[in-house]
Amino acid sequence: MQLLDGKKCADSLIAEIGKRVAGYVEGGLRKPHMTVILVGEHAPSESYVKSKITTSGLSGFESNLIRLPETIRESELLAKIRDVNDDPTTDGLIVQLPLPKHINSQNIINAIDPAKDIDGFHPANFGRMTLGQKAFRPATAYGICKLLQFYNIPIKGKHCVVIGRSNIVGKPISIMLSNDFDIGNATVTLTHIETPRELLLDETRRADIVIVAVGIPGFVTPDMVKEGVVLIDVGINRLESGKIVGDVAFDAVAPKCSWITPVPGGVGRMTVAALMINTLNAYQNNFNLA
Ligand code: NAD
Repeated sequence: MQLLDGKKCADSLIAEIGKRVAGYVEGGLRKPHMTVILVGEHAPSESYVKSKITTSGLSGFESNLIRLPETIRESELLAKIRDVNDDPTTDGLIVQLPLPKHINSQNIINAIDPAKDIDGFHPANFGRMTLGQKAFRPATAYGICKLLQFYNIPIKGKHCVVIGRSNIVGKPISIMLSNDFDIGNATVTLTHIETPRELLLDETRRADIVIVAVGIPGFVTPDMVKEGVVLIDVGINRLESGKIVGDVAFDAVAPKCSWITPVPGGVGRMTVAALMINTLNAYQNNFNLA
């Protein structure tokens, strides 16, 4: 068993981005700029945002965090997004999810300028990505692809099973890996909460690659996978003890895997790295850089 080390891969990608940015700045351009909007006080969101801001600095970017109160009206948040959309000094915009229940998240995502949508959640980007066109790819799914690529894990022609169909992880990764992309061309089965247990087991037991994003600690057990599987654990679950674990019963399942992601230190780091790639691309688009 070998670890798919998200930290190592992310550090390498960020160092590469940093060099690119240094070159642009030496050439007289301003730095790339990322704006993050955080609504309310949600402990996990605070920690994700902190990591995004820190990593943007390591990438050579500038960033700013706009904090808004939990009670903000949807119309006020939309107005703030319009301000950032209209600001030519910002290349990428993230509105940290989840939002308070009185705000319709899809309305918010739809309001982000697709050219600044570094999360890749806007329907224009999601649609283009689905059609195999140039787009900002949803960051967690893109991060998984970059991690598989970094470790030269064969994908083309492989059988991949995705567990979980969220718009931010399961759905996009199933589309990306099945598309005729640079990192793709797998045969993908997408499973979800309505997939009968027997069918789920039939699929996962013959999969070459299993990607799990359900948010249930210990969901994937050794009897669910074959010897030599590549296992990508997207889950981030906080136990009562405060310990962070994924969706895989890691100690029991890892010995059966050829490759497995740790939690923490796996996909989470790659999500942030993918956001930096998308921000750099947004900046390059703005300045017509190759
Ligand atoms: P979600 O929480 O929105 O939905 C869960 C999904 O799991 C649903 O699609 C549901 O159909 C499926 N599911 C639930 N029970 C199932 C079962 N018994 N069999 C098959 N499918 C089942 O999904 P999400 O937002 O993708 O989050 C999933 C996990 O990934 C969470 O732990 C979340 O914190 C984590 N996450 C991590 C990152 C990262 O960067 N590492 C990014 C996003 C989400």
